[in-house]
Amino acid sequence: MSGTILEPGQIAAAASKPAFLQLPPRQLFALRAERLAQLAEGHALGDYLRLLAAVCRAQQQVLDAPPCVAAPDPQCCAQAIAHGMPPLAAESLVREDAWLALLDAWLAAFVPPEPVNPSLAAALEQLRGADAGQRKAWGVALVSGQFAGVPAGVAPFVGAALQLAWSHWLLGLDLSAIVEAEDQQTCPACGSLPVAGVIHGHGARNGLRYLVCSLCACEWHYVRLKCSHCRSTKRLDHLHLEHSPHGVRAEACPECRHYLKQLYLELEPGGEALSADLASLDLDLLLDGAGYLRQAPDLLLIPGGEG
Ligand code: FE
Ligand code: FE
Repeated sequence: MSGTILEPGQIAAAASKPAFLQLPPRQLFALRAERLAQLAEGHALGDYLRLLAAVCRAQQQVLDAPPCVAAPDPQCCAQAIAHGMPPLAAESLVREDAWLALLDAWLAAFVPPEPVNPSLAAALEQLRGADAGQRKAWGVALVSGQFAGVPAGVAPFVGAALQLAWSHWLLGLDLSAIVEAEDQQTCPACGSLPVAGVIHGHGARNGLRYLVCSLCACEWHYVRLKCSHCRSTKRLDHLHLEHSPHGVRAEACPECRHYLKQLYLELEPGGEALSADLASLDLDLLLDGAGYLRQAPDLLLIPGGEG
């Protein structure tokens, strides 16, 4: 009997096994903008969410018609994948110049909602006036989690440009050679931490948990019932507030005292991870008050230093 021939049942199982890695849709920023605008209705932070919706709209505009920027070398990407390394490694690519063109394009596309408050205008002015070296230093700081090194007002806009650049590259790459690794806690494509988890509600991924990259927005499978920070399987608590957006739970680990928000798409079929995170900041306050540390960076929400 040949070991390479699959029985009918095995063929069905192999064919239906959902992919370990999922690319975001091409309309990812438009979808985020739409969700943010919906979540802003009647929300205590409605103006803030509407501002971020405008940030995402500009990201989509540039993604749809990007400036000519150098793509990461396909051979280097293939080599990285072959060695189990992320092909779009954020820590090294952020030190190169290519993403700065996408920042310029984003700045040209961004139209903040009226009325523009003085601190927002000042932050945009500071970013427009910054030279390439300064912009890159801010980008490096954000990607390395050194949030205090970036003025608080400027950080979400630099973060938006970084997201845009990485999603642009991600959507042009063939990632089919990336194989599932156990306990993959950082993005297999770019090496960044997840912004949140998503529990899928239908289709082949029904009931499976995927982590959503805070930078490039791809999703990768991570088993449920295991802390994605310390890998403990002992106990995870799930907390939410009455008025949190539907389907959002904070998965808190008593072992390492970290938490990661999870979005249950069965409860919120049109939900999207990053917008759900931004619309549930009261949950972060609750967890902070209970002594838990936030595990996930959200590049549109950065506790930066004073600018
Ligand atoms: Fe990523
Ligand atoms: Fe843990």
